[in-house]
Amino acid sequence: MSEQVETFAFQAEIAQLMSLIINTFYSNKEIFLRELISNASDALDKIRYESLTDPSKLDSGKELYIKIIPNKAAGTLTIIDTGIGMTKADLVNNLGTIAKSGTKAFMEALQAGADISMIGQFGVGFYSAYLVADKVTVTSKHNDDEQYIWESSAGGSFTIKSDNTEPLGRGTKIVLHIKEDQTEYLEESKIKQIVTKHSQFIGYPIKLLVEKERDQEVSDDEAEDEKKEEKKEEEEKKEESEEPKIEDVEDEEEKDKKKKKTIKVKYTEDEELNKTKPIWTRNADDISQEEYGEFYKSLTNDWEDHLAVKHFSVEGQLEFRALLFVPRRVPFDLFESKKKKNNIKLYVRRVFIMDNCEDLIPDYLNFIRGVVDSEDLPLNISREMLQQNKILKVIRKNIVKKCLELFEELAEDKEGYKKFYDQFNKNLKLGVHEDSQNRTKLAELIRFHTSASGDEYCSLADYVSRMKENQKHIYCISGESREQVANSAFVERLKKRGYEVVYMTEPIDEYVIQQLKEFQGKQLVSVTKEGLELPEDEEEKKKREDDKVKFENLCKVMKSVLDNKVEKVVVSHRLVQSPCCIVTSQYGWSANMERIMKAQALRDTSTLGYMAGKKHLEINPDHPIVETLRQKAEADKNDKSVKDLVILLFETALLSSGFSLQEPQVHASRIYRMIKLGLGIDEDEPMAADDIPAAGDVPPLVDDAEDASHMEEVD
Ligand code: ADP
Repeated sequence: MSEQVETFAFQAEIAQLMSLIINTFYSNKEIFLRELISNASDALDKIRYESLTDPSKLDSGKELYIKIIPNKAAGTLTIIDTGIGMTKADLVNNLGTIAKSGTKAFMEALQAGADISMIGQFGVGFYSAYLVADKVTVTSKHNDDEQYIWESSAGGSFTIKSDNTEPLGRGTKIVLHIKEDQTEYLEESKIKQIVTKHSQFIGYPIKLLVEKERDQEVSDDEAEDEKKEEKKEEEEKKEESEEPKIEDVEDEEEKDKKKKKTIKVKYTEDEELNKTKPIWTRNADDISQEEYGEFYKSLTNDWEDHLAVKHFSVEGQLEFRALLFVPRRVPFDLFESKKKKNNIKLYVRRVFIMDNCEDLIPDYLNFIRGVVDSEDLPLNISREMLQQNKILKVIRKNIVKKCLELFEELAEDKEGYKKFYDQFNKNLKLGVHEDSQNRTKLAELIRFHTSASGDEYCSLADYVSRMKENQKHIYCISGESREQVANSAFVERLKKRGYEVVYMTEPIDEYVIQQLKEFQGKQLVSVTKEGLELPEDEEEKKKREDDKVKFENLCKVMKSVLDNKVEKVVVSHRLVQSPCCIVTSQYGWSANMERIMKAQALRDTSTLGYMAGKKHLEINPDHPIVETLRQKAEADKNDKSVKDLVILLFETALLSSGFSLQEPQVHASRIYRMIKLGLGIDEDEPMAADDIPAAGDVPPLVDDAEDASHMEEVD
């Protein structure tokens, strides 16, 4: 006999998760049933999908259903599905040895205060069985393998053995050996309540084996016999007695004579618990928000209701119905690249086809959940066919349109929109970048903080409505944080002159500026790039031209000191408080983009130098430092202190314009020298401890700027 039992160790994280589930005090244990039913439903989806192209796959059992059998005497709850089943390898891999990213993520989430009921979202729902069971036995039969039994009482290991006691045909039977203090889950009423609450929208019949009693009329003496036989009767199936009902025709007297008695007879039958028809096929007016919420939760394993919903049908040339939801939160793995991306389930005439149909919705809308039910697609459509399918393209276009409509509706309520926007702004911005057809609409949906908006988000339309009369452009600045950009030299003058600046502080904003270029006919202009032209009057224009002449010499001197570190040095008219700033050329990367690109560890660094190199130094003609420097340079263009100061100014401008220094050490040593100067400490004064390099060891300012290796030798 093949009674060989193999023992396997759970993968470490899974074992950890199981003991967490078993030992954590947690009262909302009922969710285990939702998880197991959801797995069963997935398994049924899979076999149904396979059978569309190969009907013989259903030869092992045509009826697709889920069945729940409570057995109080044995203390077990059994869940059977006629789904795809698991091969021996599936049992070993899926139920214990292969780690999933969700295992760790879920434990971390729990530690951060998440609730166990969120388990389904992390893809480890099966293990919730151990909330109520101390032993779980999974019997499974896949078309491609024999029947096997998986069993575990947790404790770090599980066993697998082959099984030929009760053939399942195809599918999975999960027997939960219910913990002594959890027997309430064997109660019919409890199970019904849980299924109605969490699983009423499952697309396959969920049958509960219920115990019933019915009255049976027997004559006196028969009744005596019945009593003795009661035990046997219990197991009897319901077969309505075919005895003719004669009471009506008999007269009273005769009835008395016969003295019939009624006794209770027990029997069991299947009761279907989820008879509601698919919610998306119903009329939107007849569906309550609660019903949408329940459906959303059963569809997504989310523990909270959705944030917004769009239920619509399209008729005419092509017909389909769709129900789309916006969740309240970004799922933990939204931007994880390998994860199955799509969350729209595709149905064809009420038959489930697949749940990650990539061609149904663009990437940037990958947070939308829901169902699409087409009247026109062929039932046996394959993934490959879908890619080129014209019908699908039209459906996709409509879905995007409806999503944008939904976002527009959300945007009508400022508070509500903020909730949505905080979660999904990256997606909308990705949309601006990717979806050229809907770029204009998406641009209306994105929000920013600006120099005038305070803590409020503001739309570009708001910005445009506030633009000054002579203002031609939308001014933007990108950077690491609101504080950083708000205090930057670039924003100074614009603010002083009453212009509003849009703060773009998310990495993705850089891509938004690149693609968007203009909004309502107004060009988006980055204030950190060269050639920023502010509207100016005659007087300002004259001053600018005069300054250009006046500082021409200083610019030349500075350029020769800085050499190839900057492309050019020019007089600026965008600064107020700061002596100078670094701007980047129109087509090079901004400081912020350089920061983002440097942070991407694996990227090809060859473009770094090329894209990053184009820096311009702009000096503020009205600043006393610049004016004094001009006079010094005028007096002696080889003045050593001018060189020192120019480098110091340049490096400081780099920092305050949002760039990072290549050799911060060298910059620091320069600053220390300045501090000493300020404190009147002699250059040659020795330091207290001998093993620390004396102040005199610090290399001369100009030289070490040319040659960083000098500094390393000192260290
Ligand atoms: P998830 O279902 O989210 O992937 P689970 O931990 O609930 O995570 O289940 C792990 C895997 O075990 C599933 O992905 C599936 O392959 C398999 N599985 C679980 N239950 C069943 C079932 N009833 N029938 C077939 N396969 C199942």
